[in-house]
Amino acid sequence: MAQKKKSVQQPDVSAPIHTRVLIIGSGFSGLGMGIALQKAGIDDFVILEKAGEVGGTWRDNTYPGAACDVPTHLYSYSFEPRADWSQLFSRQPEIFDYLKGVADKYGLRPHIRFGQHMTRGHWDEAENRWHAYASDGHEYIAQFVVSAIGALHIPSIPQLAGIEEFAGAAFHSAQWDHDFDLTGKRVAVIGTGASAIQFVPEIVDRVGELKLFQRTAPWVLPRSNVDFPQGFQRALRRVPGLRFALRNGIYWTAESGAYAMNKRPGLLKGIEWAGRRHIRRQISDPIVREKVTPDYRAGCKRLLGSNSYYRAIDNPKTELITEGIERVTTDGIVTKDGVEHKVDAIIYGTGFHVIDSFTNLSIKGRDGEDLTDRWTQEGVQAHRGITVAGVPNAFFLLGPNTGLGHNSIVFMIESQIHYVIQAIELVDAHGVAALAPRREAQDRFNESLQRDLAGSVWNSGGCKSWYLDEHGNNRTLWAGFTWQYWLQTRRVDLSEYELIGKRPRPAVRSTVPAADFPPQALPANV
Ligand code: NAP
Repeated sequence: MAQKKKSVQQPDVSAPIHTRVLIIGSGFSGLGMGIALQKAGIDDFVILEKAGEVGGTWRDNTYPGAACDVPTHLYSYSFEPRADWSQLFSRQPEIFDYLKGVADKYGLRPHIRFGQHMTRGHWDEAENRWHAYASDGHEYIAQFVVSAIGALHIPSIPQLAGIEEFAGAAFHSAQWDHDFDLTGKRVAVIGTGASAIQFVPEIVDRVGELKLFQRTAPWVLPRSNVDFPQGFQRALRRVPGLRFALRNGIYWTAESGAYAMNKRPGLLKGIEWAGRRHIRRQISDPIVREKVTPDYRAGCKRLLGSNSYYRAIDNPKTELITEGIERVTTDGIVTKDGVEHKVDAIIYGTGFHVIDSFTNLSIKGRDGEDLTDRWTQEGVQAHRGITVAGVPNAFFLLGPNTGLGHNSIVFMIESQIHYVIQAIELVDAHGVAALAPRREAQDRFNESLQRDLAGSVWNSGGCKSWYLDEHGNNRTLWAGFTWQYWLQTRRVDLSEYELIGKRPRPAVRSTVPAADFPPQALPANV
């Protein structure tokens, strides 16, 4: 399946651009997909990127204190390990630099078209090709389309009454306004999720007053970062197997949390005990302690870790406000108890459109069927979280039910990328144009998935989270251990697929080896 090298032409709206594989997005998923295609001998691919640089979420989230809450020795590609991560939980600039470095090292930039925001695409049954369109009118024609857009990229700003009347500075955590000087200002922060707990401690000393609007208290466990000294980094570089052992140690430690989250949420009481103790140690006021204590099972929403968040709440400059927001005025926020909180700036730490991000693209599959319509009616579902019945040759990296509450998402991405490469190779090996999962296989997969999720802490833990859709179905998280996902995506099972195009030849087995286990834990040189 080696392809001829094809350089990407300069944009010309008048002429469609033909490519074999169209990748949308250049974050961890898109870059990883491009590299895997190169390794498989496919050089005819284009990566569309809506922004002006690679990096996805690690390009966009520049808020103070932005860092990964999974140890970076695991939250990085298995084939591109680094011995010189400076900290256990790397900060955004280091991860962003890593991704830019990967794009350069693998020569991906000539394949990337920046400033191309893909908005719609349809499958042409006569040609067996995708036609995809960017918002500026560029047309791309491709045999395969890989969505690598991630799930956390459309900032969600609540529709609060009067929000447009506010005259001060207002921005979302993923669109941080670095030109706005917070020094001495009265600042409102709305939201107390994974992003807010990272930036609140970073800004509290600078601002004049901090008004923290909490709707639901998160569970926050003690966590301190560790700087890796030069000597340790050298040892990781030189001592055979050390980096491998570290990566594996982190992986299996994280993986051990999956059992309780999936099968026995009651076991998470121990975590709640640690969370309460953390509150008692860091917050002095009993009323505030009570307000920050969650009333649902730990793990139901993402478990957070910070040694500085509760201290920031305990800071005399901070006021924790738990009355709901009634409306925004020109110079403040009025809560449901009628109190007006005057502020100079509002920072929205209010998260992202997640489930609806899947239906944000207009995708039409076979018979012109609109995938958004189907997903709106039936719920967002895919086969093994990657492919969709009736939508040939389209692959969704980090698609439905492949998010995680307990381990590194890069593991899932690498498992999926391997699956996509196998699928493309099978299309070639059978001399057909396309493949799509059979509806029965997809339904079977999703029924079993939903059965497994029913007893999980995310479904039964007594909280309202963005993991669940409006009908209470979990459309975002994987059920079970990540090694089980790896096992299920290690090989494309052709009995689950329909081959489209020319008459299929007798069954051919993929020559792409099944994925190694666990892909995230094996350094490239092992
Ligand atoms: P988030 O976890 O969805 O938190 C959003 C916060 O805003 C919640 O506290 C939510 O309250 C609140 N909120 C939303 N709408 C509101 C409204 N109308 N009024 C009042 N409060 C409102 O978002 P996030 O903190 O940006 O994190 C999103 C995800 O990004 C995380 O779950 C994680 O997967 C990822 N992330 C990862 C890292 C990392 O280190 N790897 C770091 C940051 C973020 P409710 O809880 O009541 O809904």
